[in-house]
Amino acid sequence: MADGVKPIIPKTMPARKTLPNPPEKLLSVAPALLAWYGRAARDLPWRVGPAARRKGARPDPYAVWLSEIMLQQTTVATVRPRFEAFLERWPTVEALAAAPVEDVLAEWAGLGYYARARNLHKCARAVALEHGGVFPQTEEGLRALPGIGAYTAAAVAAIAFDAPAVVVDGNVERVVARLFAIGEPLPKARPEIRKAAGSITPRERPGDFAQAMMDLGAAVCTPRAPKCLICPLAGFCAAFKQRAAEAFPVKKAKAEKPTRRGAIFAFFNSKGEVLLERREDKGLLGGMLGLPGTAWAEHPGADVFVSAPAQAKWIEAGAIRHTFTHFHLDLDVYFADENRRTECVMGEWLEPEAARLPTVMKKALGRALAARKSG
Ligand code: SF4
Repeated sequence: MADGVKPIIPKTMPARKTLPNPPEKLLSVAPALLAWYGRAARDLPWRVGPAARRKGARPDPYAVWLSEIMLQQTTVATVRPRFEAFLERWPTVEALAAAPVEDVLAEWAGLGYYARARNLHKCARAVALEHGGVFPQTEEGLRALPGIGAYTAAAVAAIAFDAPAVVVDGNVERVVARLFAIGEPLPKARPEIRKAAGSITPRERPGDFAQAMMDLGAAVCTPRAPKCLICPLAGFCAAFKQRAAEAFPVKKAKAEKPTRRGAIFAFFNSKGEVLLERREDKGLLGGMLGLPGTAWAEHPGADVFVSAPAQAKWIEAGAIRHTFTHFHLDLDVYFADENRRTECVMGEWLEPEAARLPTVMKKALGRALAARKSG
């Protein structure tokens, strides 16, 4: 947006019934975007960039799949080092399939959404054992694998195999909603956005096109202050014409997230190790190591100590807050030291620094350690 140009940002936009550009103009979107991608593609460790592709290099489907699973709900900056560590440890899908699931979960710690790590392992096993280590090349074939939904199937098919799939992630959704000034609020607008994305996806180089759209959304058509004046698609963009880029995609007002509460216990032995338990396979943080504690509920029971791992002199360490996708979690943190007569529930004793824990557990343990040190 140029300085001094005041954007018109309507609260809701009228639903659009017609596309903003005639079909012949839409044909020019892909060449303009691909030319920009040739100059501005991000250098990403899982990507074969446009220059390397011109020389005949092809992406490794295993790396493409791994990156797409890791990138769900997680930023590129967070994923980059984790992806490299994963690939170094398990350079092929067969190597990942042969790893114990506990090792995969530990390597995943901190990336969140732990069901994804379990499915990642299941999927690697399916590819290694049922497909001879070779990923299916079609969206349909990929969707039949564990943990691969419609988006990931389209992304892997397009990026790894250049299949003409329509790839719509959060970045692409934003770019397309703006290009076509789609006035229907999300999530109802998704079918219309998908159809519009399909109308500009080329038959040639659909994989590069998908990645170019993602890069454009990440670097130029950003959620706030999009850089329309340097955008290669400004000439096609209906939202830019209306000077209303930030009004799209139109979103419904968000409902308040509920808050759940609970208590969590850090129990230390004489060596300074902390007692951890492996959570049930199903549910949030399924299969991950964590501190023992109560269930998380909107109205927790009054006596939290029935869930403590031992009868001990529990000391309050304060509270932490962690926000998951669908709720805030407030946890009261307690710590205690083992004495010779303490009997405690079964678990694993680990040095606090050596434990690969999910972020919420790390926060709770950090709080307990700080209180123990100062008290
Ligand atoms: Fe996004 Fe602006 Fe480009 Fe339109 S012109 S696609 S709103 S950056």
